[in-house]
Amino acid sequence: MDTQDSFLIGSIECTVLSDGWSDYSPEAIFPGVPEEQWRRFAGSTLTEEGMIRLAYQTLLLRSGERLALVDAGLGDFGGPDGSAGKLPGSLEGLGIGPDDIDVVLVSHAHPDHIGGLVRLGGPAPVPAFRNARVVMRRDEFGFWTSDASASMMEVMREVTGMVLPAIDHAQLLDLVDDDREVFPGVRFEPAPGHTPGHAAVLVSDDDQGAIYLADALIHTSQFENPEWTAAFDALPEVTVESRRRLLELAASRDLTTMAFHVAGRGRVRLRGAVFGWDPEG
Ligand SMILES: [Zn+2]
Repeated sequence: MDTQDSFLIGSIECTVLSDGWSDYSPEAIFPGVPEEQWRRFAGSTLTEEGMIRLAYQTLLLRSGERLALVDAGLGDFGGPDGSAGKLPGSLEGLGIGPDDIDVVLVSHAHPDHIGGLVRLGGPAPVPAFRNARVVMRRDEFGFWTSDASASMMEVMREVTGMVLPAIDHAQLLDLVDDDREVFPGVRFEPAPGHTPGHAAVLVSDDDQGAIYLADALIHTSQFENPEWTAAFDALPEVTVESRRRLLELAASRDLTTMAFHVAGRGRVRLRGAVFGWDPEG
């Protein structure tokens, strides 16, 4: 999970970057699924302590001289000894500093995806990528900055309440509500459910394509069991609808596929009526 893996989509260079990992209780990842069932699909994500280990990984895109990050990782919110928040080190490993990033695309405003947009430690959070436009869907921003999110977990609202205003006040925020290019060859693909304004990201150039599912799918078991939802899915039924639609898209177009919480990258295959996952790279 700590190595960097690059591939080309046309002329766009894509690099999977680790932000670390985190362990979750099986009850949070597989609520309502009998243990003997989820154990069959847990694979290497099941730790010796009986926890489910999810990767945290972002995507770096390079088009010519321009650099875009897709999601920002947990940042400083995991604390200095946390297992996540490693993105700055991963970037540094490529010789890239935070000021080199031109655009950060945000799939949704959960702490593990936006925490890294700011640095903590001073009197107030400050933007971590000072030269970057932060682009997110208007409906996602609206959800977290209104009473609509009042029922969401306190820890989530606390982080969004610190991060989003800091980016907004620094005038780095661009909100989009259509399918415009947000970086050369790159568009948001709305995929609501995990959060109301959650979006995947499509990369296409020269007849080649990739899809970043973000958290429309968070565990490899969900390829074969797309109806399994996690405790963090705000709208479970909508999550499943979005997931099936994206998996069909990825399989039918043979897209290079990655998800924030599934280590590495691969391709989605439709075998009969069942989705499968072929890791690559
Ligand atoms: Zn996540």
